[in-house]
Amino acid sequence: MEVLYRKYRPKTFSEVVNQDHVKKAIIGAIQKNSVAHGYIFAGPRGTGKTTLARILAKSLNCENREGVEPCNRCRSCREIDEGTFMDVIELDAASNRGIDEIRRIRDAVGYRPMEGKYKVYIIDEVHMLTKEAFNALLKTLEEPPSHVVFVLATTNLEKVPPTIISRCQVFEFRNIPDELIEKRLQEVARAEGIDIDDEALRFIARRAAGGMRDALTMLEQVWKFSEGKIDLETVHRALGLIPIQVVRDYVNAILSGNVRKVFTVLDDVYYSGKDYEVLIQEAVEDLVDDLEREERVYNASTSEIVQVSRQLLNLLREIKFAEEKRLVCRVGSAYISTRFSGEKVLEKTKASNADNDQNNAQESTTKEEKDKDIEFEERFKELMEELKEKGDLSIFVALSLSEVSFEDGKVVVTFDSSKAMHYELMKKKLPELENLFSKKLGKRVEVELRLMGKEETVEKVSQKILKLFEQEG
Ligand SMILES: [Zn+2]
Repeated sequence: MEVLYRKYRPKTFSEVVNQDHVKKAIIGAIQKNSVAHGYIFAGPRGTGKTTLARILAKSLNCENREGVEPCNRCRSCREIDEGTFMDVIELDAASNRGIDEIRRIRDAVGYRPMEGKYKVYIIDEVHMLTKEAFNALLKTLEEPPSHVVFVLATTNLEKVPPTIISRCQVFEFRNIPDELIEKRLQEVARAEGIDIDDEALRFIARRAAGGMRDALTMLEQVWKFSEGKIDLETVHRALGLIPIQVVRDYVNAILSGNVRKVFTVLDDVYYSGKDYEVLIQEAVEDLVDDLEREERVYNASTSEIVQVSRQLLNLLREIKFAEEKRLVCRVGSAYISTRFSGEKVLEKTKASNADNDQNNAQESTTKEEKDKDIEFEERFKELMEELKEKGDLSIFVALSLSEVSFEDGKVVVTFDSSKAMHYELMKKKLPELENLFSKKLGKRVEVELRLMGKEETVEKVSQKILKLFEQEG
């Protein structure tokens, strides 16, 4: 079976979705017989760069062109579509970066076209070429024969040397709007007899993030996977995503401040072998979608949804860079959840903190020490709040998992052996840590890091957090 994106690849300018500004300029050039020798098509993947390059190549070489459109029936058109036409050469610089290929092109451009009227060189991902290859290409672009057209496609214009750019006409391709992708998916689904509902199509369109090729590839993947009608749930399963019900359980647990439930869902996701990053990404997407739904799925105000989405996005970033992804996800999710849990939890947390303060204070021997301890506790609590809000979350997590005390004029941070990773990380961040404490305490202080022998598992830490945030009942 022919893959969908190839089968439904546009064959004429008018079939190309979007990119009207590019089409208009190129069609104008063909009409005026003033096609440039070098074009750069820059833009995101799957937005039609090589498709448009091929249509241009066909239009220039078509034996019975109708206006500006290629006929798609003559030998030239068919051979260009099949990739066998001698005068249209496609090169993928991502897999073929070397100078040899470019030299061969440079040596060949001088000769007349063998079959058609124009030699068209389409170089995809041109930014991947080596410096030597770029130099060879530049020489060719400096004195191009009249019958040669270069189309250089790239997803990364910044990496193309300015000397090349200045020799070419540059067109920026834009992401294709979701609605246009959805419309196209609908047409293809109808033509292929794929039974899929609108919500599922919309999800695929949005997930394709502006790229038609990705959208059609996903549709095909889902189609092959499914039997019968395709709905949102089918799409999730086919694409290896997390079932939508699990995503919604997670979000609902967060919105209702049910930390225990948050952990249960996270465990289920973890043991089913799925990524937390996928879960959170999907959660944010579903939350944002909810703002546009006629009937809301989530019982939350618009501003709450926006807030939770933002915090989940921050958490997603933290998880991406974290070594202990599982722990960071649990702590982060619990934290976001508690912000939406209402007064009860907040009061309980405050009360338990106050208890701790008292206990600590009673253990101190002299009044002076007592005051110092309380003072340090206060400053430390403030510091943690600040870190949690807008600081380095890796430091926040490390300090949450360690015992922090103020002894003999210096800050002592003690990790048990299971937190060796955090200990090592903090060793690297020691200057930053000392700055943080010095600033907070209003004087230059040393920070001493200690690593102890006690074993404590991630599970136990999670339970600690759970206890701290748990709601009654
Ligand atoms: Zn033709």
